[in-house]
Amino acid sequence: MKIGCHLSSSGGYLAMAQTAVSIGANVFQFFTRNPRGGAAKPIDRNDVAAFLEYSAANGIGPILAHAPYTLNAAGAEERVREFAEMTMTDDLRRLELTPGTMYNFHPGSHVGQGAEKGVELISDMLVRIFESFGKTPSTTVLLETMSGKGSEIGRSFDELREIIDRVEHRVDAVLGVCLDTCHVWDGGYNIVDDLDGVLEEFNDIVGLGRLRAIHTNDSMNVLGAHKDRHEKIGKGKIGLEAFARIVNDPRLANLPFYLETPCDLQGYKEEIALLKSLVNAGIKA
Ligand code: FE
Ligand code: FE
Ligand code: ZN
Repeated sequence: MKIGCHLSSSGGYLAMAQTAVSIGANVFQFFTRNPRGGAAKPIDRNDVAAFLEYSAANGIGPILAHAPYTLNAAGAEERVREFAEMTMTDDLRRLELTPGTMYNFHPGSHVGQGAEKGVELISDMLVRIFESFGKTPSTTVLLETMSGKGSEIGRSFDELREIIDRVEHRVDAVLGVCLDTCHVWDGGYNIVDDLDGVLEEFNDIVGLGRLRAIHTNDSMNVLGAHKDRHEKIGKGKIGLEAFARIVNDPRLANLPFYLETPCDLQGYKEEIALLKSLVNAGIKA
């Protein structure tokens, strides 16, 4: 099972990998820079080299880089969209040093311009970024499924499909999707009573082949609340039985699971052990 959690990147790559191992994880997620925006720290190439060696020796990966929350490709102001484009371009350049990484971002919020306009702005930005690379980046870019809080794009599988189509018809790139269990639940997809139906719908619209990562979070809110408040595994409205089905579903079991629950390291260690025990126990009917 590939499982880990979000970790602080303040100590660098090697420190994250060592922390992951210390809590029983073999994957992890990290912010590429301050999640509220700002410049990224310069990359320490010695740290990257030490990380690559350590992660190969310890079977770590794939790692998932998360874009800052302030990145909004669908913003109404040009300044906001420029920041998004600059940041993602810079992030992808830096991630070339750690091949095989995945890069997850929140598609964006249309802030009243309408979902159609939002989808267009996000797709156009991705096309420009991929074109500016001159080759396919070594990093797979993932669109995150969103809860539909405010004017978030990506609240439905159809919106993700639209972005994928608009990008892939214009440039030679493949987009993936990161499914956030809290977000889809808050978005109205009933993964508790009908995981099968939700995954079938995902497959029909997006394609399960595009699913590359699972953000594994319980939710503080009810189905369709469009709130996005993560809860510890088994302590929220999704509940432990649903997670037992999720981690044991053959369509998901081989994917990397990344926890983003409100936990400290010890809490993450316990959740990782808990989810592993659900896999060892097999599917609960
Ligand atoms: Fe996210
Ligand atoms: Fe998430
Ligand atoms: Zn969230």
